[in-house]
Amino acid sequence: MRKQLARLLKPKLYVSHIFEVSLEHLTQLGMKGIMVDLDNTLTPWNSEVLAPETIAWLKAAKGYGFKVCMVSNNKGERIDRIASFLEIPFVARANKPLRRAFIRGLEVLDTKPYETVVIGDQVFTDVLGGNRLGMYTILVIPISRIEFVGTRLMRIPERALLSLIRRPD
Ligand SMILES: [Mg+2]
Repeated sequence: MRKQLARLLKPKLYVSHIFEVSLEHLTQLGMKGIMVDLDNTLTPWNSEVLAPETIAWLKAAKGYGFKVCMVSNNKGERIDRIASFLEIPFVARANKPLRRAFIRGLEVLDTKPYETVVIGDQVFTDVLGGNRLGMYTILVIPISRIEFVGTRLMRIPERALLSLIRRPD
């Protein structure tokens, strides 16, 4: 039971920022698609501010031949604006961790789960959903402490869980 839970809730990789993920490494693992969360992974929550390093990383990912897609539980024109600025497709109102959210992302990417990376800042949406489908999950530290009230609540069990995993420096 414990092992099963760990398999579902533990990310394959845990880094501070998305741009620290080695694209070289993902290529070596045979990954072809990257499904990326928006709030607190690419930008602070409900913000349109993108770090230059993040923009450069996404550009480099495309340069490596990765298909990239943004999958967010959020909604609104902001997502549209960020996606068109980054020139990547997106799925909004995704309802992560539901299976359907990730299947929609996979359809957009046109990749198989085993060759697709999920990058996000939440264990109970991004990591859980990605692991359930057998995707390669990467957890990042949330960009800002400001977030949706529901998310804040889920940080309590998440913190307990993450205390078992070594936090990146
Ligand atoms: Mg997020």
